[in-house]
Amino acid sequence: MAIKKDPVDAVVVGMGWAGGIMAKELAQAGLTVVGLERGPYRNTAPHFQPPEIHDELRYARRHGLMQNLRRETNTFRNNPRQRALPMRQWAYGQGAYPLGEGLGGSGVHWNGQSWRFLPWDFETRSRTVERYGEEAIPPDATIQDWGITYDDLEPYYDKFEYAAGISGQAGNLQGQTQEGGNPFEGPRQRDYPLPPLKTAYSGLLFWEGAERLGYHPFPSPAGNQSQAYTNPDGVAMGRCLYCGFCSKYGCEVAAKSSPLTTVLPVVLGLDNFQLRTHANVIRVNLDDTRTRAVSVTYVDAQGREIEQPADIIVLAAYALNNVRLLLLSGIGQTYDPMSGEGLIGKNYSYQFISAVSAFFEDRVFNPFMSAGAMATVVDDFNGDNFDHTGLGFIGGGFIAQFTGEAAPINTHPVPLGTPPWGSEWKRAAAENYRRAFTIITHGAVLSYRNNYLDLDPTYRDAYGQPLLRMTFNWTDNELRMADFLTNKAALIAREAGASDINIFRLARTFSIVPGQATHNNGGAIMGADPATSVVNPYLQMWDVPNLFVVGASAFPQNTGYNPTETVGALAYWTADAIRNRYLKNPGPLA
Ligand SMILES: Cc1cc2nc3c(=O)[nH]c(=O)nc-3n(C[C@H](O)[C@H](O)[C@H](O)COP(=O)(O)OP(=O)(O)OC[C@H]3O[C@@H](n4cnc5c(N)ncnc54)[C@H](O)[C@@H]3O)c2cc1C
Ligand code: SF4
Repeated sequence: MAIKKDPVDAVVVGMGWAGGIMAKELAQAGLTVVGLERGPYRNTAPHFQPPEIHDELRYARRHGLMQNLRRETNTFRNNPRQRALPMRQWAYGQGAYPLGEGLGGSGVHWNGQSWRFLPWDFETRSRTVERYGEEAIPPDATIQDWGITYDDLEPYYDKFEYAAGISGQAGNLQGQTQEGGNPFEGPRQRDYPLPPLKTAYSGLLFWEGAERLGYHPFPSPAGNQSQAYTNPDGVAMGRCLYCGFCSKYGCEVAAKSSPLTTVLPVVLGLDNFQLRTHANVIRVNLDDTRTRAVSVTYVDAQGREIEQPADIIVLAAYALNNVRLLLLSGIGQTYDPMSGEGLIGKNYSYQFISAVSAFFEDRVFNPFMSAGAMATVVDDFNGDNFDHTGLGFIGGGFIAQFTGEAAPINTHPVPLGTPPWGSEWKRAAAENYRRAFTIITHGAVLSYRNNYLDLDPTYRDAYGQPLLRMTFNWTDNELRMADFLTNKAALIAREAGASDINIFRLARTFSIVPGQATHNNGGAIMGADPATSVVNPYLQMWDVPNLFVVGASAFPQNTGYNPTETVGALAYWTADAIRNRYLKNPGPLA
């Protein structure tokens, strides 16, 4: 028998970017809010202080800030005919999708690449049909428009960038192209709050090579503060030290945009907000009509079941966990790829990375000193920024030269053909450590009929609940796109003066083992039509209007960009709709 808590106005499940923003915005509107986080409390001090926080073995290899896979994981297979197997350990590097756990979620140990999606990304299907015809959509692709446009979301992108202290160079200010920025970005009302990070020598060579080829390089937008900054809520952040221990680590000087350095300090100071850590939510409870959520049930640190009633319930537990909680709670109809019926779990999508290592005989770099999002980028082959006629794929991705984070265990580039061990390998590793850099491609993945999420029939977590099962593989669209982008990356490497290059193409079959993109999307997608979407354009369940599902679970397909700024913008957009419309008239917002 669960212990029943007093009702509150709103309960938010998950305290990452999505949950932190929702909790802050709802509590600031005067609601009593409880935030439930399955992981521990942690903060800049005392948890992220040097020298311990620069322990590569603990954080980058053993994933010290991430989900404990012994308690909960998910299972994986490439297609519905296979039996899925559990991901039992984080693979070498990081595995396909390391998952966050603890106050601040993955926002604590992310890189900080902070992108707005292109206007095209929100209307992928209709704009593709308009430009190339219906036949350009790959067979079995289930892509659809989002139900909102870039222009709808622009003010909320702006809000996120100013709350998070993003460093960058505008490329399109109110329709005017800006020198040195991304000329392909959608129009923005104002510049970034902070100037871009420094460009390293390797980034400069990439920049010059790309420019000679006629492309348009620019500094990556970064959630690493180029200067000390105080956000509109009065929260102060430090200045990035380019310490080189960024992705997979917490920041020792609060110079990485994170829920811990932006929204959580505000909400944790409010009397009407209560944080409960080690609170693992296991289901959302509906009333008898199945159209109203009444409470959530969680297991606390002592193993007790606790029921927390609330008028508004927000799931912000990350894309995968949002979908799993809907499935565990029996909310909505589970997607069936055979019949095409059901929507929960449909349109799961991922992202790909391929790479080119460039080696130089006559150049020396400092690959160690860097920030998580310190990169030079070209966006000429993202979205529909280029003519796809005859290419055999739609969509695209960015190509970037990331500087550094070349920590000693993980990074030792050697030319192809070097033996994998022994004195020759050691000599090549020593010789090339400061004479090489990597260019990556970061590409979109569409949604397809046979890529989806559901509950595994065999494997369970430590609480006895079915694990989430992921069924996913690349299709020809991604493989062609990846080859196209990889060839462009190799071209830039040569133009930048590389004497030798290694090309790492996208493997023909997806595997969860190698480290790659960290971005899972879909499964509870948004849209303008209840027949084809789980949540409406305000991330409100069509069938259960007091239940909001916030995060990348709402993306109908993936884009070429990292997702988090769009997750943050959508959270601000949803919170705004609740504050200004739902609270006055609780019910469907669309
Ligand atoms: C190494 C790494 C680098 C990354 N770099 C970038 C980048 O440069 N740019 C970018 O855009 N994105 C990046 N990402 C992705 C980014 O971190 C995520 O997109 C973002 O953090 C998602 O925010 P969220 O709030 O939706 O989920 P999360 O940050 O995952 O937060 C969800 C929270 O919910 C909690 N939770 C889950 N289930 C339950 C439950 N049942 N009960 C209670 N609590 C629960 C989790 O413990 C977690 O704290 C990176 C990710 C990783 C791992
Ligand atoms: S590189 Fe900068 S933002 Fe990243 S952890 Fe180090 S100091 Fe912080």
